[in-house]
Amino acid sequence: MRKVSLRSSFALIMALLVILGLCIYIIRYINHGEEWALYFDQATSSCTYTLTDRNGVVLAKMGNGEKTYAEDADVRTACYQLVGDYGGNVGTGALSSFTKELSGYNLITGIEAQDDVDLSLTVDSKLNVKAYEALNGRNGAVIVSNYKTGEILCMVSSASIDPNNPPTEIPDGAYINRCISSAFTPGSVFKLVTLTAAIENIDNLYQRSFTCNGSFEVNGLTVTCTGTHGTQTIEQALANSCNCAFGQLALELGADTIAEYAAKLGLTSSHQLDSITTAAGNFDKAEANSASLAWSGIGQYNDLVCPYSMLRLVSAVANGGTVVEPSLLGVSDTESEMLKGSTAAKIASMMSYNVTYHYGESTFPGLKICAKTGTAEVGDGQASHGWFVGFLDDDKHPYAFAVIVEHGGSGLGSAGAIANAVLQAAVND
Ligand SMILES: [Zn+2]
Repeated sequence: MRKVSLRSSFALIMALLVILGLCIYIIRYINHGEEWALYFDQATSSCTYTLTDRNGVVLAKMGNGEKTYAEDADVRTACYQLVGDYGGNVGTGALSSFTKELSGYNLITGIEAQDDVDLSLTVDSKLNVKAYEALNGRNGAVIVSNYKTGEILCMVSSASIDPNNPPTEIPDGAYINRCISSAFTPGSVFKLVTLTAAIENIDNLYQRSFTCNGSFEVNGLTVTCTGTHGTQTIEQALANSCNCAFGQLALELGADTIAEYAAKLGLTSSHQLDSITTAAGNFDKAEANSASLAWSGIGQYNDLVCPYSMLRLVSAVANGGTVVEPSLLGVSDTESEMLKGSTAAKIASMMSYNVTYHYGESTFPGLKICAKTGTAEVGDGQASHGWFVGFLDDDKHPYAFAVIVEHGGSGLGSAGAIANAVLQAAVND
């Protein structure tokens, strides 16, 4: 008897294991079926698809047993991280991330092998080439979108490679799309966060004056500014990117409030760009009344921001406080309120003032540009990261952008010049 019950228990356990295995398989099939199917199809080359940019320029094509990339080497290199490669080296590339769309996959029937799939991305490969050229060998990221429709028009990451002729030594980070998968010290572009918190929490902000003598002391430590800005309004303090003004605002607002706004403006969390998960940023709450807190409010200390999150933020500012979620696959149908309309309008007008008062309209001929620079100190005696983020206040060309040049030095001189080159092409070509 004992032997029989032992055997039946064993059989029962085996049966349960089989059922458990089947459940795991079904769940994995639902979640990953299209990847397996496309992987199989890519291996056997039985599916056919063409991936193009928004103007029909072929970026990748599979069919008749052949796998090819764009004809033009400049397009291949400028679109490398956007497209990815057949080896799956860029995890966030379209060839790896949009397997479902490329395969025409269906959970029940699998892949309809006879169907030719045409998938058109929202990006304009000409703008990618323009941006890659403007980066001119420096590492960095350039991302431009239409803030009314969410369509991403340009997405370039450097260093890059030509997938048809990959070098024997792959440059540092060439498999990473810095636009969406990296987070950098933001420097002064983070002042937009402290500014938003100040607009919504300090009653007499516009009546105040902010004095800058080149530095100020917090608990025996010195917080330095990039200049000696004298007496300023909040508008002038933003245009001057004055560390004294924004450091003192950070101390007054406190770490909890700034952290709350960094989260609310989407800088600390990751996001979904279609099926791609973007990199989260970071904001550590420093002690009250400390130099670290002042530095955290001006984009230094342990602050980190992904260029994609910055793009979402300036898109919302441009679009009256509502962010239309960016997409690579078409006009977006997802939007949400990121900040109050009145706050967005105020920030937008101050970002316009930055250009007229400080950066110079002649630097961006013909563009109705609103922007904020960042020159983020990265320590170790290395040159700062140059940032330039903003948008065009132009109904015909409603474009938002975020540009970063690693160790590029001045934000205006490095990233600002790239933004201008790409936006001129977007507006005039
Ligand atoms: Zn100053």
